Amino acid sequence: MIIGSHVSFGKEQLLGSVKEAISYGANTFMFYTGAPQNTLRSSLDKDLSREALKLMQENNININTVICHAPYIINLANNKDDSKYNFSINFLKNEIKRCEELNIKYLVLHPGSSVGIEANIALDNIVFALNKVLDNTSVMVLLETMAGKGSELGSTLEEIKYIIDNVINKDNIGVCLDTCHLNDAGFDMSKFTEFLDVFDKVIGLKYVKCIHINDSKNILGSKKDRHANIGFGTIGFTNLLNIINEEKLKDIPKILETPYIGETLEDKNRLYPPYKFEIQMLRDGKFNEHILEDIRECYKK
Ligand code: FE
Ligand code: FE
Ligand code: ZN
Repeated sequence: MIIGSHVSFGKEQLLGSVKEAISYGANTFMFYTGAPQNTLRSSLDKDLSREALKLMQENNININTVICHAPYIINLANNKDDSKYNFSINFLKNEIKRCEELNIKYLVLHPGSSVGIEANIALDNIVFALNKVLDNTSVMVLLETMAGKGSELGSTLEEIKYIIDNVINKDNIGVCLDTCHLNDAGFDMSKFTEFLDVFDKVIGLKYVKCIHINDSKNILGSKKDRHANIGFGTIGFTNLLNIINEEKLKDIPKILETPYIGETLEDKNRLYPPYKFEIQMLRDGKFNEHILEDIRECYKK
């Protein structure tokens, strides 16, 4: 099982991410090369990158399964404002370069939101932008399946298919599934095998390179995108466990993006990462009824 979580990329850059992943008992991880909400990016320190690689090797983390996530503010779908559209394209190009520098193969990207323009024009904007950046690179951009919140594109298989069909360098494009987003987009995760069959027919399973494992706070088809902790949402522990153990996705990295846990339910000031315990629970294959207490106990001191 290749499983990890979202981790931070702080002062120690990739080395800090690796250390955090190891502390959760993970054998892979996902990071942003800076804050996910903004575009401030520090320059990469070669020594830290080298140390990160070494630590990964020592801990059986295969760098080819490690995932980078592009910041949310990149929107390739809307070109109403030329300067904003070009900024997004250039920023993505730069993120691809940073992945190359870090030897990271996969970069997850939200396809984009149309915000006021026709969806088919927005899809063509995404295709145009991707063809501009996916040239002569070792990095593969993974289109994330989205919940369909607001004017988000990529919540239907047809939209994902359209983008892939029109990207020229097929070796540089793939898909990242997200169980919360799929649920919210209307795909029933209790029928995951059937979903994979449809996905295979429409797009092709070979394009799936990563899967985000999240429970959902909202019902099937709600188009909301609010992640819940494993076993605490509408998808449920058993369905998520089935997805993780799906034979067809066995070599695909599973990444948790579940919310941090407050010391009390209302407490937003002290939040603890759930990943160590969620990973353990999924490896054991058994729901831990005391997981919230275990997490609080572990980080309290
Ligand atoms: Fe995402
Ligand atoms: Fe996700
Ligand atoms: Zn999400």
